[in-house]
Amino acid sequence: MPRPTAIVTGGSRGIGRAIALELARTHEVIATYRNRRDAAEALKAESGVEIFGCDVSSRENRAALIAFAQRKFSRLDLLVNNAGMAPKERRDVLDSTEESFDELIATNLKGPHFLTRAAARWMAGTHSERQASAGHIIFITSISAYAVSLNRAEYCISKAGLSMSATLWAQRLVADGIRVFEIRPGLIRTDMIAAVAKNYEERIAAGLIPQRRMGEPADVARAVRAIADGLLDYSTGQVIDVDGGFHLRTV
Ligand code: NDP
Repeated sequence: MPRPTAIVTGGSRGIGRAIALELARTHEVIATYRNRRDAAEALKAESGVEIFGCDVSSRENRAALIAFAQRKFSRLDLLVNNAGMAPKERRDVLDSTEESFDELIATNLKGPHFLTRAAARWMAGTHSERQASAGHIIFITSISAYAVSLNRAEYCISKAGLSMSATLWAQRLVADGIRVFEIRPGLIRTDMIAAVAKNYEERIAAGLIPQRRMGEPADVARAVRAIADGLLDYSTGQVIDVDGGFHLRTV
């Protein structure tokens, strides 16, 4: 049996790197990067995954990624929409800029939404050749899909939109045998939050996260593993909170 196949966007660092390493144990993986070819090369050397440069905000780059994957793989079993960015500068919403808004919407929302469209057409088109599942699509959103951060409104809005994209695709693709999941990480120790990690650690110690620890990229990768292995296949459109209980509310 050929190994199943996966594309992980933003696999060069952080959460995407952990997901690519986890999947490499069982899947043929293409991990994408935007700027950090060095980091992607290191991942390739460590795990043997294929790497491909792709800015997900670019229509041409997305098309090139799918064309590359179709040359490498006869079918696609899993797409993980992980690539994303924080605002270059945190600014109060009253001082926020249209440039940053456009950049984050293009990268965090429009890119994964339309990459999913391309991948889904491919996956659905090969469905009849399969036994059971036509595959899985995962969106890495964030607690910012519902939790307000006044100094990065564009990030919150992009992730809230991405959450709806996941729901839409879950509904549209259910008849094609494709299960769609949203993984909603909390605070995860990566480069993205390195500059503010100390502040978060203090707030976590004070009770911000019920489990009283910051998440690690591997925490998210394990949730991807459960989906990739089909352990949740009588579900679709499900949100999986990987946040140490951050979403729990008390009165
Ligand atoms: P990092 O900044 O550590 O890594 C980001 C990854 O995405 C890198 O591989 C980067 O490529 C890639 N990337 C960034 N912009 C683009 C783009 N336009 N096109 C293609 N690839 C791009 O981030 P994290 O690992 O922390 O975040 C991964 C995902 O998880 C993001 O969607 C983020 O919003 C989400 N998330 C993160 C949380 C956290 O606390 N860390 C919490 C909740 C959600 P390169 O290496 O080339 O720069």
